[in-house]
Amino acid sequence: MRVEEGFQQASYSTEHPYTADPVLPGLLKRILPEKVFEADLLRLGDRLVNEIRPLAPLVHPATLIQYDEFGRRVDHLHTSEGWRKIEEFAIQEGYNAPAYERKHGEHSRTFQFVRTMLMTGDCHVVSIATVHIMQEDAELIELYGTDAMKRELVPRFLSRDPSTAYLSGQWMTERPGGSDVSRTETHATPAERLPTDLVHSAGSLARCLTIARAYAGVRAVEGGRTLLKDVPLHVANLAGVALLYRGLVHVVFGAVRLLGRSECGVASKAEEARLRLLTPAIKGYAALRATEGMEEAMTALGGLGYMEETGIGRLIRDAMVEKIWEGTVTVCALDLVRAATKDPQGVQHYVEWAKCVIASVPSSLKQQLWKPLDMLSAALAKLPSAFTESAANPLLPRLALDFFASLSCALYLLEHAAWSYGTAEPTQEEDVEAFRRWVSEGNLAKTEGEIEGVRRAGSWRETLNSRLVYGSGDVSSKL
Ligand SMILES: Cc1cc2nc3c(=O)[nH]c(=O)nc-3n(C[C@H](O)[C@H](O)[C@H](O)COP(=O)(O)OP(=O)(O)OC[C@H]3O[C@@H](n4cnc5c(N)ncnc54)[C@H](O)[C@@H]3O)c2cc1C
Repeated sequence: MRVEEGFQQASYSTEHPYTADPVLPGLLKRILPEKVFEADLLRLGDRLVNEIRPLAPLVHPATLIQYDEFGRRVDHLHTSEGWRKIEEFAIQEGYNAPAYERKHGEHSRTFQFVRTMLMTGDCHVVSIATVHIMQEDAELIELYGTDAMKRELVPRFLSRDPSTAYLSGQWMTERPGGSDVSRTETHATPAERLPTDLVHSAGSLARCLTIARAYAGVRAVEGGRTLLKDVPLHVANLAGVALLYRGLVHVVFGAVRLLGRSECGVASKAEEARLRLLTPAIKGYAALRATEGMEEAMTALGGLGYMEETGIGRLIRDAMVEKIWEGTVTVCALDLVRAATKDPQGVQHYVEWAKCVIASVPSSLKQQLWKPLDMLSAALAKLPSAFTESAANPLLPRLALDFFASLSCALYLLEHAAWSYGTAEPTQEEDVEAFRRWVSEGNLAKTEGEIEGVRRAGSWRETLNSRLVYGSGDVSSKL
């Protein structure tokens, strides 16, 4: 039978990344004073669906030609047509600019991050050069650059004109190490040209979830009688991914709001301290957990998920870099513990904020949620000692990061659920359920148990870890 014959799987349609998102519209409704960004997000989403998504088949890996036929060093970087068009789109859209133009005051960061989130899934690796790195360089220059740098470079980093915009890069990581920069060999010298190309990307859990959701609407099982979207077990798997996405989005935007306040000089000391703790924790935790959800989304498409054309494989590969660059998850954990032990008052501020979030829950909702709220309060009480013990026990920092980040997700989900319930939002039931599941069925309790296990085992666990990895003793003695 020819491939054109027999059963043909219907393809799934592409959803608007903002209106179809299960979390962002409700979150923005709560955290913004009015619907200031809505028109722009709708327009941006339309461009993504109609102009950018169709470019995917034209995006190919870049190639670097280092030498010409005479053995001369040329270093030509060839990028694909699709990639160049997406790069142009990203610059035109001012991927990065809103955060620095600050037209929306303390909400400018939220605006930039929500746009970035919408674009990430369809923009392949472009966002790394246009957002991630340029943003850091713009920030560096804003904080420490000379007047000439601020005048000449920052406007080009933020330009929406592809003919004048600069892309930038960082070359800090050297062979001796990226985590440990104490043996860095490079000396900075003025250069005539700025680097113009990098190829990197972060993946997008949102995009994978969208694809899995759309596919469930067209794939029939059980003799072709039932669509996957109507199979409870399949939907339960997707609900797990959706819950993870929800937790990550709420905690990320919790920190983004603090960043926006900090940059506008309106953050309190307590908010600055919370931002300091959340930054490495969320970076590490989101990197770690997002790929888990993306893998689940891939399997939700069965064999099709494995096909390169769906884009999920690429998104997972790109997301993996987040676990490594700018601090591996372990390095983020060490930074978190360092920040927490250096500023115990900051941890106290966090605990007080958390107690306020719990206290803000309407009493009728408290009755409904008494069990997860008790669990949350008990976990919160253990937080300061989890940090102090992590400074002394080399095996605890990674668990402390998981624990703190998971706790923070729970608190931000609760903040949203309390608001949603209080204002009788149409989504209140799922908002409340998301908090309940995160605490009662998520990995907060599991991480607490693991911390307890490491605590009890003491240094004997380190010995056993080494034996598990390297075996015990000399091989010849076992023969
Ligand atoms: C795709 C990609 C793009 C990148 N782009 C850039 C870029 O544009 N600019 C740039 O400057 N760099 C870039 N990097 C480099 C990146 O930032 C580093 O790879 C990263 O910081 C890790 O450093 P390393 O490679 O030296 O690993 P190492 O520091 O050697 O880490 C190896 C392992 O040791 C662990 N480890 C390290 N220190 C400790 C410790 N004290 N305790 C316990 N465990 C520890 C780490 O967790 C890791 O598992 C990029 C990396 C990748 C993969």
